[in-house]
Amino acid sequence: MFLRMRAGSPAEFGLGLEKEAASVSIDMGVLLRRWRILFPDLTNCISLCQKQQQGCRFYHEKQKRMLLSQHFLSMNLREDSVISQESKRGEMTCKSQRLMLLGGLICPASPGCYHYMPYTVRAMEKLIKVIDREMQIIGGQKVNMPTLCSAKLWKASGRWELMSKELLRLADRHGQEYCLGPTHEEAITDLIASQGCLSYRQLPLLLYQVTRKFRDEPKPRFGLLRGREFYMKDMYTFDASEEAALHTYALVCNAYCNIFNNLGLRIMKVQAATGSIGGTMSHEFQLPADIGEDQLMMCTNCDFSANMEMINSDQRHCPVCKGKLVETKGIEVGHTFFLGTKYSSVFNATLHTSQGKLAPAEMGCYGLGVTRILAASIEVLSTEDAIRWPSLIAPYQVCFIPPKRGSKEEKGAALLEALYDSVAEAVPHLKDEIVLDDRTHLTIGKRLKDANKLGYPYVIIGGKKALDDHSLFEVWNQNTGETLFLTREAIVDLLSEV
Ligand SMILES: [Zn+2]
Repeated sequence: MFLRMRAGSPAEFGLGLEKEAASVSIDMGVLLRRWRILFPDLTNCISLCQKQQQGCRFYHEKQKRMLLSQHFLSMNLREDSVISQESKRGEMTCKSQRLMLLGGLICPASPGCYHYMPYTVRAMEKLIKVIDREMQIIGGQKVNMPTLCSAKLWKASGRWELMSKELLRLADRHGQEYCLGPTHEEAITDLIASQGCLSYRQLPLLLYQVTRKFRDEPKPRFGLLRGREFYMKDMYTFDASEEAALHTYALVCNAYCNIFNNLGLRIMKVQAATGSIGGTMSHEFQLPADIGEDQLMMCTNCDFSANMEMINSDQRHCPVCKGKLVETKGIEVGHTFFLGTKYSSVFNATLHTSQGKLAPAEMGCYGLGVTRILAASIEVLSTEDAIRWPSLIAPYQVCFIPPKRGSKEEKGAALLEALYDSVAEAVPHLKDEIVLDDRTHLTIGKRLKDANKLGYPYVIIGGKKALDDHSLFEVWNQNTGETLFLTREAIVDLLSEV
């Protein structure tokens, strides 16, 4: 029933089949009864639909507010217990890991594997949208390939041996061997070969996916920065000539720069080694950070920069302009490879050139660490006790904090709720991006602290001044550190720009 595997460590895993197997065997009646407990409104809606038979009314009900108290968040994690849990496993910790654990954004499952909690999933889905957009602008088409990769393909490319312990290997009940895909050069090239010859008219062909990848890290560490299970965007490109393939390579690198620009992250594109992927040219996209595990050399005079592994250790001058080289550290968030015909010649992925000849495809492959970008951006943008996300991918954009129940300012709560409703109505694109922290048994200060743990770009507080004639609300711009007192109208204007 289960596909079992052995990792490098003695721990054993069952692939998550149990949940699916259980859910298919549940009959609808049981499911509905369960839903009725979990989602009373939804089941009301179902009976309403059954009665009226005219489509669902659920979403037309009175405007609902997004209440923080209803979110699945473990905000009561205590710092020491979280950190000791991780360090017991021998994992090193860093700022992004600590902040993500403290905010209840991730929850440890086994070494190098985390549950992604709802806020993290929201951020990740937004990040994938940003990536999708840039990949599709350059003609990328999204596919989705199996995680179980046949050993046959990996043996053909020679990587079954080459990757040794990094591959998570397993066998099915028939004794067929597989690995859990860390990357898909073999699979995609075999797919292309199986489709018969491509025509030059279809080129360049750019295929990509965003899926879970696996690597048996000897020492998983730094939370989502170096796990054993992670999300990656991987793109594979096919061209008829080396010249065309290099043009495509430049196109994808440019799209990567756009992605990081859109996120407001300073990126370094450095020359890099090709490693086990192979090919003849490679670049890494690095976010400069103290905890970065890559040593980089950067010219102080021109654009040249390279991973230390690319240059002689005693080299202190730029190979391009002889300027001085300085050392810095980076987190690798993307990696591009010009592969040539390394894989296409093995798997017989051929195409018809414009001269009517048959030729092996000239390929490139391009990775972006999706979950690693989430953690790395937190690493470089956050302070020691407050998470900052690139605004574009913050899980929610605005948090409203009404006064504490029973306090002198309590009457301000209704004004703040009215402000919440105005924003939801006047700024439709923010309707699902705003949260009301209704835990009014807590002080404003305590909830503001929690807001810092979650990283809303804006926090709006209904304090004393909300009760004045001018009714001013306190607006914190978390990214600039600015605090403003604004009227309802001014806040709607401000948030319209978000
Ligand atoms: Zn230089």
